[in-house]
Amino acid sequence: MSNPAGSGMHWGIDIGGTTTILGYLKKGGFEKKTILDTDPPSGPDSLFRRISNVILEADATPCSAGVGIAGLVDRSSGLLVSSPNLPGWQDYPFRSKLSDKLNCPVAIDNDCNVFALQAIEFSIIPDAGLWLMITFGTGIGGTIIHDGAIIYGSGYAGEFGHMTVEAYGKNCLCGSKGCWERYTASGALSDYFRAHSGNAVYHTPKEIARLASIEDGAALKAFEEFGTWLGIGLANLYHCFSPDGVYLAGGLMGASEFFLEHAESEFHARCTCAWNANVLPSCSDAGAEGAAIMGRTRTG
Ligand SMILES: [Zn+2]
Repeated sequence: MSNPAGSGMHWGIDIGGTTTILGYLKKGGFEKKTILDTDPPSGPDSLFRRISNVILEADATPCSAGVGIAGLVDRSSGLLVSSPNLPGWQDYPFRSKLSDKLNCPVAIDNDCNVFALQAIEFSIIPDAGLWLMITFGTGIGGTIIHDGAIIYGSGYAGEFGHMTVEAYGKNCLCGSKGCWERYTASGALSDYFRAHSGNAVYHTPKEIARLASIEDGAALKAFEEFGTWLGIGLANLYHCFSPDGVYLAGGLMGASEFFLEHAESEFHARCTCAWNANVLPSCSDAGAEGAAIMGRTRTG
């Protein structure tokens, strides 16, 4: 149950591999409070302390909290089991620690799932049919949604980023090799640009998108390669799920104009299904808002 004597604030925390966003729901609206540097090498205890300090300084009696984390999350035990983007953060009891510290109920889930909860809440994803939500950033997140509900399978369904797309391809932080997220996430795009430009300096996806906008050949080639791998992965997912459509989100989708048509063409070369890919506008607060909604509804 949410804390009945609470302040009325339902907190949402979105923990990504690079940044952590905190905010709260109050009287129907969502307000972002702050952005923290996740700083994976400093460990989960450090982030836990910083998160609880921010919340308790603003709100001594929270009603509930929801946490979305980029990794494998065991919803029943409340543990972050592991995360390729948070190396060494294993079996960390985020839910019980936060619940004890804040003295309120806490719900926890994978970050893409809480992002999807926000899209379901606001009817961005239709209530009927089978849909896939896929986020592209440091890694790839995935969620399967059927008739407005998230499908978990035995617990961790939707880890599309670790679907093998190259049998003996690049090593992945998950321990496998050839995973889709090694070919269709921000690090891969930077690698493609480096290879096509011959420039050893690291360029962020934003910088590569700026170069593509002024028709830099290497940047356009990098996006073409990225789009090709996107199309390969989507064709695999359509073969497996036959979804009504997919929702593509995450920071990299801000540059979709440079790669989506390449993805579609690769998709059609591999799959006869109808292409229905919807790009969601980038909204950095949506994950934290989804986490707050989850905290309010799943602990209510
Ligand atoms: Zn992997």
